[in-house]
Amino acid sequence: MTATSTLATRRASIREVGLRDGLQSLASIVSTADKCAWIDAAYDAGMREMEVGSMVPAHLLPQLADTEAVLAHACSKPGLLASVLVPNLKGAERALAAGAQSMVVPLSASHAHSLANLRKTPDDVVAEVARIRAVRDAAGSRAHIEGGVGTAFGCTLQGDVAESEVLRLMQALLDAGADHVSLADTVGYADPDSVRRLFEKARKLVGDRLRTAHFHDTRGMGLANAYAAWQTGITHFDACLGGIGGCPHAPGASGNVTTEDLAYMLQRMGIDSGLDVPALLQLRQRMHAWLPNERLHGSLWQAGVIAAPQASTAICP
Ligand SMILES: [Zn+2]
Repeated sequence: MTATSTLATRRASIREVGLRDGLQSLASIVSTADKCAWIDAAYDAGMREMEVGSMVPAHLLPQLADTEAVLAHACSKPGLLASVLVPNLKGAERALAAGAQSMVVPLSASHAHSLANLRKTPDDVVAEVARIRAVRDAAGSRAHIEGGVGTAFGCTLQGDVAESEVLRLMQALLDAGADHVSLADTVGYADPDSVRRLFEKARKLVGDRLRTAHFHDTRGMGLANAYAAWQTGITHFDACLGGIGGCPHAPGASGNVTTEDLAYMLQRMGIDSGLDVPALLQLRQRMHAWLPNERLHGSLWQAGVIAAPQASTAICP
């Protein structure tokens, strides 16, 4: 799809990933009931894709220990595509048993980051995706498999990550059986030029099988990067309400691009995301109660949406 045809479409979709990417970086633990209320409110605001947890051992991420229960609630919502992160085959088996409609398998394009975080090389992850595909097909499941290529723009351990390596791994994930792939700026290294360059090359290589752009706002470029990706034809974006998530290397830094800000930007550009922005702002308010010790980020909440012009009561000179 070209940028021109995307402009003709003028539709985009945001996947709320706060319940996974956001919460996994915070010390606070949100109760299962509050997570379900979060899903309900986001759904009522028009959200139709949500990543609701991670199939990792509870002792590693106690914040996400209730992923199965949260996923079951999400799956009860008609028309909601509920995804979970699965780091390996065991996680995928849990996800399939729990009825996940989409599984995101993270791969770090930075070898150093991959070894440090996943204790696997990127190509080990590609091989795991092939095993996950075989198990999914054998189970007769139609759950999507998404290869999430992280640190696609660089990382704190390795510095630069070559575009050629990102593209090679993306293609390898698809060849191994992933249904689609996403590109993630995991630690805020991307800028609009590098986003445009990499997404253009990636889309030339795999077309619409590159589905989602995932940006962190660590250095304040999340929205600009999302816009750059949109201009290359990307119409699916990950985001977190309240910009939660943070960055382990930068205490206090904002996390993922902020859902309500991104939804508002799309709306101002005349792009239909199906989201009710004032309802998202109300949900953001409720998050203060669920995360009393955490800082929320974003800009829109401070000024609110631009209201319709009011009849002026001032006397013009
Ligand atoms: Zn992320």
